[in-house]
Amino acid sequence: MLTRRTLLTTSALGLLAGCATRAPLGAKPSLLTFADAPISLHDFTQFASSPLILDRVELWWISNNEHMIVGHIRGGLTAYLPSNKRFGDDLQLFGSRVLPYFLGKDLRLIEQHIETCARANYKIVGLPFWNHIGHLEMLALEAIGQAAKRPVFDLVGGGKRSSVAVYLSNRDRHTTPEQEIEAFMLPRIQATGARAVKLGIGGRMSRNADAWDGRSEALVARARKVLGDGCSIAVDANGSYDAATGIEVGRMLESYGVWFFEEPCPFEEFEMTRQVTQALDVAVAGGEQDSSAAKWRWMIENRMVDVVQPDLFYAGGFLRSLRYAQAAAANGLDCIPHAPRAHAGAATMLQFIACLDRPGAFHEFSAKAALAQPAYDYAPRLAIRDGAIAVPTGPGFGISYDIEAVRRIAKPVTFDVGEIDDGD
Ligand SMILES: [Mg+2]
Repeated sequence: MLTRRTLLTTSALGLLAGCATRAPLGAKPSLLTFADAPISLHDFTQFASSPLILDRVELWWISNNEHMIVGHIRGGLTAYLPSNKRFGDDLQLFGSRVLPYFLGKDLRLIEQHIETCARANYKIVGLPFWNHIGHLEMLALEAIGQAAKRPVFDLVGGGKRSSVAVYLSNRDRHTTPEQEIEAFMLPRIQATGARAVKLGIGGRMSRNADAWDGRSEALVARARKVLGDGCSIAVDANGSYDAATGIEVGRMLESYGVWFFEEPCPFEEFEMTRQVTQALDVAVAGGEQDSSAAKWRWMIENRMVDVVQPDLFYAGGFLRSLRYAQAAAANGLDCIPHAPRAHAGAATMLQFIACLDRPGAFHEFSAKAALAQPAYDYAPRLAIRDGAIAVPTGPGFGISYDIEAVRRIAKPVTFDVGEIDDGD
């Protein structure tokens, strides 16, 4: 039972504890400025002489994993962007809270519209919100690139490389090591010439449990034995471990020469993840769920991970992700964006890598899609040759779609469009 005396003692101890952890006198932290950038970093008006007014957006359902987003620009330009698999999860949010801030607006000023929309909606920002923003931002960049007849990377000072070496990623955890390595990965490696893979370990947000006892080590051991020392092996734990177990698993991974260890701890556990990173020699990677500029600053300044992994959609777009990647590079950290996609959907990632100062050695490509035919025709085909894909260099993200082929398999999706609501 707490008495006044114990309360006082507890308070005093609390104060002492606080003093003990305070920075020594004189070591004041620098005054922080807002983590988010000024409203506009890029002047896209220089690339298109007339405003690019977004009149209308259509959504075409292709599969549960993909919509085609169609932006109609005043004057006749049409911009296309394949969505990610989460886009269709909440079209009410898209239509009511996001799209109204972009309709009727000049897409050359996309960063200003994003700022306005995010400020008005600050109570609901998070991955679903920024995922929608990310789609509209890349649709805008596609339109600007089309109008300027230049690739997006060229609009933002990219063009630093013309091809991207890929790793084949797979997230299955129901497979045996033999099924995963010999039956699944090996034929895809042989067909593509890929020299790196990423495998799912742990149990996905599983509080230290493996998919089944011993699977993770058996899988990594099998991969090393079958794929050889020439293959870079990354693993994704999808937040399976606490710090102590993450470090223990990391030591096991180090013994097999693993390339990087992704999301050892639940993604919101920043300090826990940092402890794992500090303890291990194997590179720790993370950041795919994070859309907050303030959190990105903390992750980079506190070296929470060795490799940053913004997702171009979840993080709110190409430009925000580029800002995080370049801040990370300035702090000595590589960037390997989260991009489990393939076919035309990989174009945004390829152009992003072309802009980076410190890209990792290999970048993500869906292993399941590596040998599959695309759902619709497009050019140039983003096929893996000798383990790499050429960065598309056409206007926008560099892809020409067979729109009639897309229309044949797509169904128009209706959704309500709201009005701008600045809230209270
Ligand atoms: Mg991941």
